[in-house]
Amino acid sequence: EVSIGILALQGAFAEHQSALNRLNPSRKLNVILVRTPDDLCQCDALIIPGGESTTIALLARLAGLFEPLKEFMKVKPIWGTCAGAILLSQAVVGAKKGGQELLGGISTKIARNGWGSQVESFEVPLELNGLEESTRSFQAFFIRAPVVLEMFPPDESPITVVARIPLDVLPPSLVDENMHEDDPRTVVALRQGRHLLTTFHPELTEDDRFHRYFVEKCVLIQ
Ligand code: GLN
Repeated sequence: EVSIGILALQGAFAEHQSALNRLNPSRKLNVILVRTPDDLCQCDALIIPGGESTTIALLARLAGLFEPLKEFMKVKPIWGTCAGAILLSQAVVGAKKGGQELLGGISTKIARNGWGSQVESFEVPLELNGLEESTRSFQAFFIRAPVVLEMFPPDESPITVVARIPLDVLPPSLVDENMHEDDPRTVVALRQGRHLLTTFHPELTEDDRFHRYFVEKCVLIQ
């Protein structure tokens, strides 16, 4: 049995829980809502949901979870969606006044609310790279999503781009003329080692391919 934790301090943790349960009719996956260091100790992997990254970091600090999360990330897989993606990054731009604590286990620089204020949310079909059934696009929901600004040269494990947002389906107000197809800002899902980062919300669809990918390719591999 494998135990997957979902950080359940704030945000869309219940949706991730439903998605994991949908994958899991045989209950071989044990899904744990993580609120304390003891909960975290029982997990083989962790999902950090979308929500509000500053709040999640603050609540994690108050729960005594921040340092344990950093240690966890050194040895076990973590998947961060949206606010969770911010927390996994090494550097953030546009943090709230007072700063933003990061776990920093993925070699990216990310811009909080990076798609701008004109468009708070949008929905886009994504082409996937390396996921099962990747010929079928994935309907992705972006909600005040972060934008990957830079992928740093890796110290250890290289970054694999899992999905990019096509320039022609981006809201035109968000495309600037310097943006080309392999601009880091088009990267919306990436993997480094056994960690996964998505700037959108796969848990808000009934399409569980990202959840299956995380479980099968990041968690269960030896
Ligand atoms: N804008 C939020 C933040 O900065 C993230 C939004 C989300 O997770 N949907 O934390």
